[in-house]
Amino acid sequence: MQLIDIAVNLSHPSLASQAPELLERAYAAGVCQMILTGTSLSESRESLELCHQLDASGQRLFSTAGVHPHDAASWDGNSSSALRALLTESQVRAVGECGLDFDRDFSPRPAQVRALEEQLALAVELQMPVFLHERNASQRMLEILREFRDRLPAAVLHCFTGERCALYGYLDLDLHIGITGWVCDERRGTHLHPLLGDIPANRLMLETDAPFLLPRTLRPKPRSGRNEPAFLGEVLREVARHRGQSEQTLAQQTTACARAFFTLPTIL
Ligand SMILES: [Zn+2]
Repeated sequence: MQLIDIAVNLSHPSLASQAPELLERAYAAGVCQMILTGTSLSESRESLELCHQLDASGQRLFSTAGVHPHDAASWDGNSSSALRALLTESQVRAVGECGLDFDRDFSPRPAQVRALEEQLALAVELQMPVFLHERNASQRMLEILREFRDRLPAAVLHCFTGERCALYGYLDLDLHIGITGWVCDERRGTHLHPLLGDIPANRLMLETDAPFLLPRTLRPKPRSGRNEPAFLGEVLREVARHRGQSEQTLAQQTTACARAFFTLPTIL
């Protein structure tokens, strides 16, 4: 069985120091390719650097480059050209993580909107897919995406945690949907269970968002308390159960979907 983890924050300090062992465990668990998440200009550079350092084959590790809404206050007149340079690197496969987070509001909302719109403009210019983050901001996100969608090749709403109307809004715009171990959380993820079957198989991808969102159903629990790509199978199990599919079939579908979305090579 082959799986692809579309969101690994490998440049996060808690993972970067033990990255080689972590990748070995991921490969042993069938996670054959990973997309490292870039969340700021410096983290995006670091993620790309980790792709080069840790994957001599150039076939297994890829990254995104972008500025997260939490960091949107740092977006200035130079950001777009700095980001464009990173996006032309061959291992960088999507613009992002970019988006809106009206839940934590770490950056002022007008700054979040500006950074998002300028990153969407870059995706249009370079004809690259977009890796989107949205929390408690689906209405504004949908308004902005409607302006850009016709000119964008593809976009994934990563770590979808919203309600049915938001999901249908994104699917109506022909977006892809990323699902994390949020669905394994009995305190806040159960509203997603009846929605999982509504996501078309060619629009659904799986992610750990490691080191965050350790699946609460995972046994035994790792002593570190941290999530890692090797645990993607737990997300697969939970999603397959609620879609009424075999894990095998869902793995094949989500892997094919991620490979097409990020234009990844086939691994034999
Ligand atoms: Zn995110």
